[in-house]
Amino acid sequence: MRVRKRKGAEEYLLEHSQLAVMQPDRWQGRWCDRFCNNHPLHIEVGCGKGRFITEMAKRNPGINYIGIDIQLSVLSYALDKVLVADVPNLQLLRVDGSDLLNYFAESEVALIYLNFSDPWPKSRHEKRRLTYSSFLKTYKKILLPQGEIHFKTDNRGLFEYSLVSFSNYGMFLKQISLDLHASDFAGNVMMTEYEEKFAQKGQVIYRVEVQFIKREY
Ligand code: SAH
Repeated sequence: MRVRKRKGAEEYLLEHSQLAVMQPDRWQGRWCDRFCNNHPLHIEVGCGKGRFITEMAKRNPGINYIGIDIQLSVLSYALDKVLVADVPNLQLLRVDGSDLLNYFAESEVALIYLNFSDPWPKSRHEKRRLTYSSFLKTYKKILLPQGEIHFKTDNRGLFEYSLVSFSNYGMFLKQISLDLHASDFAGNVMMTEYEEKFAQKGQVIYRVEVQFIKREY
């Protein structure tokens, strides 16, 4: 997500350190203390301007959410929304998704959302894709054994790459949709900023849910 640098973004986040976590490593393994409850923890890696995670937090008060983005200015726009929403179950974190092991303990997270992750189409940038094997290794550690990753994108190349990456890692794929907005699931879709833009242009949205361990139904 490209945004112009926002003046004062850092100070703004600092001013709201009750919502934008400043020393995230302090909370590793103790996020339930930060939220003052034992509710399940769902995170979005690359939350952008935060619409998805804010709406999810409003809709599901029994779940704790953390929106994560590497860009300061982007996260400051997410903070605008979080302040308006005024929900106790949402925090923002400005960190690199490749460092999640520093901020989450083993099995601390129940669900990871990856929405419209940067596609990094050049093969020399493969390692930066949020579905590259090193990221999957990290996700596996911080997720509960039956935890899930929900991934959606408009980018066919990234989607195909990610399906292969998940499969190579021995993950279980379910609810694959090659046109999310035309599927049975469409009524339940919580749109992200990017999703709305792409959907308005008539672009197809791909989605999949994956797990490291198969759940017994
Ligand atoms: N999920 C949002 C934004 C998608 S754009 C939406 O759907 O609208 C992708 C976002 O991922 C950008 O905001 C970018 O800053 C963030 N990002 C890219 N690499 C990242 C990384 N390694 N760790 C955390 N965030 C990352």
